[in-house]
Amino acid sequence: MKRIEIGRFAGFCSGVERTIRMTMEALNKDKNRVYSLGQIIHNPQMVRRLEELGLNVVSDINEIKEGIFIVRSHGLPDNYIRELKKRGLKIIDATCPFVKKVQEKARVLKKQGYELIIVGDSQHPEIKGVLSAVSEKATVISTKDEAELVSGKRVGVVFQTTFPLSWSQDIEAGLLDGCQELKVYNTLCFETLNRQKEAIEMARVVDVMIVVGGKNSANTTNLAKITASCGCPTYHIEEARELQSEWFDGVCSVGLTAGASTQSLLIDEVVSNLKQILGDAEVHIFGVDLQK
Ligand code: SF4
Repeated sequence: MKRIEIGRFAGFCSGVERTIRMTMEALNKDKNRVYSLGQIIHNPQMVRRLEELGLNVVSDINEIKEGIFIVRSHGLPDNYIRELKKRGLKIIDATCPFVKKVQEKARVLKKQGYELIIVGDSQHPEIKGVLSAVSEKATVISTKDEAELVSGKRVGVVFQTTFPLSWSQDIEAGLLDGCQELKVYNTLCFETLNRQKEAIEMARVVDVMIVVGGKNSANTTNLAKITASCGCPTYHIEEARELQSEWFDGVCSVGLTAGASTQSLLIDEVVSNLKQILGDAEVHIFGVDLQK
């Protein structure tokens, strides 16, 4: 019998749930005058749904004159928030507490006189927010090669919340070479770590991995990279209709995981399409011996 294994941790994390809840509450209070700069979470389908409910997603803060502004889950540079407050907007800060922790630890390290290294994607909104929290006085790196080029007496390190654990360990090892004193704060989000660990375990025992979530979502993209690096054929999709039957030729078991901003409805749709493609397949929650 063919099997579909669904990750126990697949889907919404607490940070994304919190952001959506705060946005819905704001929309209930003041429909049509609620704004976000860019996507409040990296899930295009969910953002579209919130737009249907009245959320205004803008790409430039100059488009916002009044109303309520939601700070997205990844945070926002301080100067944007100051400017919007000056214009009299009500600010609802939906920055995930784990992201806040990265900002806070970065500030602490700067205050203590450490040369700050931020490990992550320099183009990601979370990292732009962390840089802003320390007045841009930090270096962003994302590879072991870059880490090996860092040298200094007192170097402090924080990580993007969704950075993969094994890559973080490699970078730490790379930094040891050139730094006399290295102070590292583990700012990886445990919800991301749970997903990554489970995805690795699944990728080791199934024939194919399906990773569901926004292509612009760092944690989803990293999940797909991690399972592919385990040698398991991996497909990253946003919606069920992207599944292609030829991916499953000769396949007996499929692992399914999803990023932290992927709602359960999307996962259910993928399971339903997978069942059709595979024919008669049992659906299990990974690591739990109960048929779904
Ligand atoms: S993945 Fe972690 S850091 Fe990102 S929003 Fe969710 S809980 Fe927060």
